[in-house]
Amino acid sequence: MSAHHATPARLSPAEHGIRPDGIDADSIEVVGRLQSAGFHAFLVGGCVRDLLLGFEPKDFDVATNATPDEVKSVFRRARLVGRRFRIAHVRFGRNIIEVSTFRKTESEGVELDSTGMILSDNEYGSLEEDAWRRDFTINALYYDPIGGELLDYVGALTDLREQRIAFIGTTSVRLAEDPVRALRALRFQAKLRFQLCSTILEALPDAALRLQAVPSARLFEEFNKLFLLGYAHAAWTAISATPLHRILFPCTPPNSEIVSEAMQNTDARIAAEKPATPGFLIAVLLWQDYAARVQELSATHPAAVAGELAAEQCIAHQSTIIAIPRRFSLFAREVWSLQPRLTERQPRFIERVHTHKRFRAAYDLLELRARIDPTLQDVFDWWTHYQAEPASRPELVSSLPVESHPRKPRWRRRKSRSNLPAQTSES
Ligand code: ATP
Ligand code: MG
Repeated sequence: MSAHHATPARLSPAEHGIRPDGIDADSIEVVGRLQSAGFHAFLVGGCVRDLLLGFEPKDFDVATNATPDEVKSVFRRARLVGRRFRIAHVRFGRNIIEVSTFRKTESEGVELDSTGMILSDNEYGSLEEDAWRRDFTINALYYDPIGGELLDYVGALTDLREQRIAFIGTTSVRLAEDPVRALRALRFQAKLRFQLCSTILEALPDAALRLQAVPSARLFEEFNKLFLLGYAHAAWTAISATPLHRILFPCTPPNSEIVSEAMQNTDARIAAEKPATPGFLIAVLLWQDYAARVQELSATHPAAVAGELAAEQCIAHQSTIIAIPRRFSLFAREVWSLQPRLTERQPRFIERVHTHKRFRAAYDLLELRARIDPTLQDVFDWWTHYQAEPASRPELVSSLPVESHPRKPRWRRRKSRSNLPAQTSES
């Protein structure tokens, strides 16, 4: 890795080839107005990297030597957010441009008082210091969309050319500062189809252990970035090949075929601009663990109780490392509890199942299950038919095999069982 460059490589438009038409106009306005007010301001990070690679940037971030308060004085509509490092959000209708002030590395910039509070005197830094505190070389490029110049302090352009993900500075130190960077490395490997440099590969076992100390809510944010931005399958494949898998997804077998299928489906949905929810991914990731637990608990509990206990247990287990917000764990539980209703197809409950708000997600899970268990194919086809042809529904229902040994519907709690018609095989 190269030493600090006192002067950056400076590339002109003819040399770097970035075309202004791919750049968000609001972000250019933010840079322009900061510069007119006498500050330095650049586009920075992922958007510059993506512009150079020909990807469409997800968002356009601005870095400046103006303090957050100074940014606010330039843009009256700016809102200051963040506690430790305040960032200005400049709003243009629905578009928000994030403006952050140049800062030093965490270790240099942060001074604590006796109560642990940050004394913020020297948290801000120079442009060069801002470049060196970033994670990967390819994420530390600065581009001035007004003057047209591209600045590279850290050898980013070489790594972009060689399609390599490398830390700025010493890998082990950067991973100790923030183990989430290991996950970010795998994310960029998946998104950009780049190679991890060998020091990162070597550091992954240690980084995996360190991830256990990261707040689970932050890991849920990373979970979303990994699997809901259009490269879920590549990200899943990358993680599955590393020791991070066992730590992050202790309930999911690494070669799970249905997870792999679900990740591909998620990517297809996002490419088609259809919504995708983490709730469904959680239902799939934990499905095999859930099903195994249901089986085991059924030996000693009524089916409905076994289902609830199994759901609680596997969600609790997964949540020790990645926090699952309640609305998403609830989503997964609803999708799971619909599975026996879908496969059993009791005639009197068909329409209620079909109109359930999680029917579609449950049907999607059934499709994935049928891929690995061909005995489910008929039932899946039946539901496909049922949805597609309302006119033939009565016929489809009457064609269902007569229940030879009627069962307690699994989704009913014991208390409400008295509402059900009497069942012949039960006491
Ligand atoms: P994407 O296009 O997927 O958003 P990105 O590079 O913009 O990728 P962000 O998570 O949006 O990634 O972060 C913006 C920038 O902030 C990064 O490019 C990097 O320079 C810096 N950064 C983000 N997270 C870290 C971190 N954990 N450590 C150091 N620098 C970071
Ligand atoms: Mg970004």
